[in-house]
Amino acid sequence: MTERTFSIIKPDATRRNLTGAVNAVIEGAGLRIVAQRRIKLTEAQAKKFYEVHAERPFYGELVSQMTAEPVVVQVLEGPNAVAAYREVMGATNPEQAAEGTIRKQFALSIGENSVHGSDSLENAGIEIAQFFTDDQIVG
Ligand code: ATP
Ligand code: MG
Repeated sequence: MTERTFSIIKPDATRRNLTGAVNAVIEGAGLRIVAQRRIKLTEAQAKKFYEVHAERPFYGELVSQMTAEPVVVQVLEGPNAVAAYREVMGATNPEQAAEGTIRKQFALSIGENSVHGSDSLENAGIEIAQFFTDDQIVG
């Protein structure tokens, strides 16, 4: 089934000028970038986005990393896009990520792991709506 998922190219990757390299892996995996914008997340946006992790010990560090420098927010479209992108991203901890995945190739650490991808179709819809209106997504 054709799906849409939400992606963020995180500050560790934008800082190292890797947005094109990450997009090449995304497109190489058959996912289409149907919306994309470079922004600097506000603290309020980052806190809301990662609200589910508010009680975790790394929450403060995560919010400060995500707001330190620009990110690229994206909508990706393709067959089973949610699961397909999670596979292309690789495991949260780059040491456990499979060869060829974005995190294996580019992530610096479990925190600075280069990309975010929605973990369910429901969350994809919620996350996309936080950053894009329907008319900004061109499939
Ligand atoms: P994301 O939600 O960013 O796509 P994920 O779903 O693979 O990543 P989550 O468990 O949702 O992983 O964690 C969200 C983010 O919080 C991770 O991508 C990472 O940046 C950070 N994070 C997770 N676990 C840790 C940890 N143990 N130490 C530091 N940062 C962490
Ligand atoms: Mg997650």
